[in-house]
Amino acid sequence: MAQLDVQQKLEILADAAKYDASCSSSGTSKRNSRDGKGVGSTDGGMGICHAYAPDGRCISLLKILLTNSCIFDCHYCINRKSSNVRRARFTAEEVVRLTLSFYKRNYIEGLFLSSGIIRSSNYTMEQIVEVARSLREDHHFRGYIHLKTIPDADPELVHQAGLYADRVSINVELPTASGLKRLAPEKSDVRIASAMGEMKTAIVDTADASKRYKSAPKFAPAGQSTQMIVGADAATDGDIVRKASTLYDRFGMRRVYYSAFSPIPDASAILPLQRPPLMREHRLYQSDWLIRFYDYSTADVVAAADDATGMLPLDIDPKLAWALKFRGSFPVDVNRAPREMLLRVPGLGVKAVDNILTARRWRKLHLADVARLTASITKVRPFLIAEDWRPVALSDRADLTSVVMAKPKPKQMELFG
Ligand code: SF4
Repeated sequence: MAQLDVQQKLEILADAAKYDASCSSSGTSKRNSRDGKGVGSTDGGMGICHAYAPDGRCISLLKILLTNSCIFDCHYCINRKSSNVRRARFTAEEVVRLTLSFYKRNYIEGLFLSSGIIRSSNYTMEQIVEVARSLREDHHFRGYIHLKTIPDADPELVHQAGLYADRVSINVELPTASGLKRLAPEKSDVRIASAMGEMKTAIVDTADASKRYKSAPKFAPAGQSTQMIVGADAATDGDIVRKASTLYDRFGMRRVYYSAFSPIPDASAILPLQRPPLMREHRLYQSDWLIRFYDYSTADVVAAADDATGMLPLDIDPKLAWALKFRGSFPVDVNRAPREMLLRVPGLGVKAVDNILTARRWRKLHLADVARLTASITKVRPFLIAEDWRPVALSDRADLTSVVMAKPKPKQMELFG
């Protein structure tokens, strides 16, 4: 490997990390250094704000790889062994220095560190842990740390990562075991699941212990997350939604991130030539929210997909797709319906529904009252009954989709275009 200075390494290793979407910094415990001890804070006390790209990705972390060299050969990965990208490698000490200097200049709120696998999974994991250890113990760094862990590494090393990090993540990579076997043959869905299971146990146990003992060590207080690549294999949206639900239920994931596969330079011949529409990734995030915040079951979201292809529509959101497919469940009476049915009304968000529930305790709601709570009453009207409104024939119209989608839709920007 040619001798590179830190600036050159940073260019290569920050660029190589951009394919990882799982870097949100939400949900950790609050720490700061206002008492003069240590450096950094997780709560924006130093004027650092969370910043998100338009598609929701967090952009205020120093997001880098320790190295983009790798002994594995996952077909979808630009850093795979057989790729001829320019390689670079940081030492643990260099990452520590960079993190501290960026932090002190207020550029970042923390560190997201991932790595290709060098020498062995254990060796790589040791290096990752050393970065976090040094930041926390040598420099009393109290900012946010998200470590990507390696499922094949010794569980004790992975456990150590959780003791230093706010969040840990293990990428599930692909929604199906067959997809993983085909595109990442050196990885094992069984080992990934086992590492996630151990992580969950440690998170639950230490959270429980810290309720009872103030001095109990913290373990990944922001929980664990994972990422799935969308569009690199034949998995349908239905497969992806089912897999995500299993990950939430079985391993207590805080977040499942979806990353639309982007064709890479020098791509493997078994990969698709075309990237999936970024809108597909967006629809999957919307379906994720329906399950997490709108009381939809996995089966409900899967039912919103096309029966023949198993894919969610791209031109309308999955909530509207479900409502159009199951019109018999509508219209919903805004003055009487339970919360879970109001949450099914396209155009009504969680906050709007809670405001409706509060307001209707005092008086009957008219359509104008609902209009004040939503961005688009056009979208809501066909699915709602109010004191002065009943959508008689509207919800049966064959062209209902175009009625509720009256305005031209904004176009999603390409992240790496
Ligand atoms: S192990 Fe990670 S870095 Fe290495 S080729 Fe696979 S996805 Fe890429």
